[in-house]
Amino acid sequence: METLDAVVIGAGQAGLSAAYHLQRRGITNAVVLDAEDGPGGAWRHRWDSLTMATVNGIRELPGMPVVEAADSEPSNIAVPAYFADFEDRFGIEVRRPVRVTLVEDDPSWVAPDGEAPDGEAADGGVLGRPLLVHSVGGDGERLPVLRTRAVLNATGTWTRPFRPAYPGAASFRGRQLHTADYVSADEFTGQRVAVIGGGISALGHLQEIAEVGETFWYTRRQPDFQDRPFTEEEGREAVAGVWERVRAGLPVRSVVSATGLSWTPALREAQRRGILERRPMFTEITPEGVIEADGTLRELDVLLWATGFRHELRHLRPLALHSDQGGIVIDGTAASVDPRIHLLGYGPSASTIGANRAGRAAVNRLVKDLCPALDRER
Ligand code: FAD
Repeated sequence: METLDAVVIGAGQAGLSAAYHLQRRGITNAVVLDAEDGPGGAWRHRWDSLTMATVNGIRELPGMPVVEAADSEPSNIAVPAYFADFEDRFGIEVRRPVRVTLVEDDPSWVAPDGEAPDGEAADGGVLGRPLLVHSVGGDGERLPVLRTRAVLNATGTWTRPFRPAYPGAASFRGRQLHTADYVSADEFTGQRVAVIGGGISALGHLQEIAEVGETFWYTRRQPDFQDRPFTEEEGREAVAGVWERVRAGLPVRSVVSATGLSWTPALREAQRRGILERRPMFTEITPEGVIEADGTLRELDVLLWATGFRHELRHLRPLALHSDQGGIVIDGTAASVDPRIHLLGYGPSASTIGANRAGRAAVNRLVKDLCPALDRER
C-alpha cells in the first residue's frame, strides 16, 4: 500500500496553496487528489457571465503573479488557465480525476509499545495513527487505498449546493434549479422567475434574468447593503465573526454573509429599474408557483435557489469531527478532535485569500506535528 506523509484532497485555491507549501517545506512524500478532469477547482463550473469583471476579486496563488485576463473573460476560462499555469510552473502533479469517497482510521494499526493509549496524549493519541484514504477514478472504479499520516482537506463547497426545505416544493410543475446549475439567463427568456436568496449570486442572477424575463426576489430578511466598498478592517471583523462560530462548534456561515453587500453602479442601476424590490419569503410552494407572505398566489415558471452551499466533508464522516452543535471546532486549520485532519477553505478561510493562508498554515502545523526533525533542519 502506498504510504504517505500527507494527502491533499482537492486542487482548488486551497489545495494548490497547500501543495506549494508542502513542496517548499520539503514534504515530497505527499499527493494531491482532485475529482475534476482538469485544473481550476470549482471555477471550472462557474456560469459564463461571471466574468473577471463581475467576480468579487480573486487573489493570486502563492508565488504567482495575479491572474492576467481581460475583464470580459469568463472566470470559468481565466481561472482554470491560471491554475494550469501554476501547476506547470511548480511541477505540482495532481492525480485526477480521483474522488475521495472515505477517510478512516487504519483498522490494522497497533499502537507501538509504550505509546500513550487513546485519550491520554494532548492530541487524543491520534497523531501517530495512520489514516486510510479510499477513492474512485473517473469511471467510478475503485483505486488503490492510500495510507497517510495527515489529510489536508480542501474540497470546497461547490458539490454541496444547499436548498432549504419548503412545504409543497415537490409539487411545483415548473423548473427548480440551484445556482450550481445556472448556465446563462438565455434559458429564462420570457419566463417568470423567482430568485431566492440574499447573497451576491442572487443579485447577479436577478440582474441578468431581468433582461430577458420577469423576476421576483425573495429573501428571509432585507440584505444589508453598504454605500462603499468594504474596508480591510471590516473584512477582518467579518472573518473574526466566522471564527467565533467555529470556536463555539456551530455550523459555519460564509464570510460574505458576515460582511453584507456593497452597492456597485450596476446594482444601483438595477435598483433604479425596480429589479431589487425584495419580497419577504413565501410560505408555501404550489404546483403553479408560490403563496407569498400576504397570501397572494404568485404564478411562476422557475424557482432559482441562490441559497448557498455547504462544505463538502461527507467523506470525513467516519472520523466524527462534528460537535454536538453541528460545526467542527478547528485550531488554526486542524480539527481539534483529530489534528491529523486539516480543513482548508473551511469557514473563515472560504475565500481565495483565506484559502492561500490556510494552505500555508496547515503545512506549518503539519511540519511541527509530524516532522519535528524536518522542522529543526529548516
Ligand atoms: P474549490 O475551488 O471548490 O476546489 C475544491 C476542489 O476539490 C474541486 O476541484 C473539487 O472537485 C474537489 N473535490 C471536492 N470533493 C472532492 C473529493 N471528495 N475528492 C477529491 N476532490 C474533491 N472567493 C473570492 O475570494 N473571490 C470571489 O470572487 C469569489 N467568488 C465566488 C463565486 C461563487 C459563485 C462561489 C460559490 C464562491 C466564490 N468565492 C470567491 C469563494 C471561493 O471560490 C473559494 O472559497 C476559494 O476559491 C477556495 O476554493 P477551494 O480550494 O476551497 O475550493
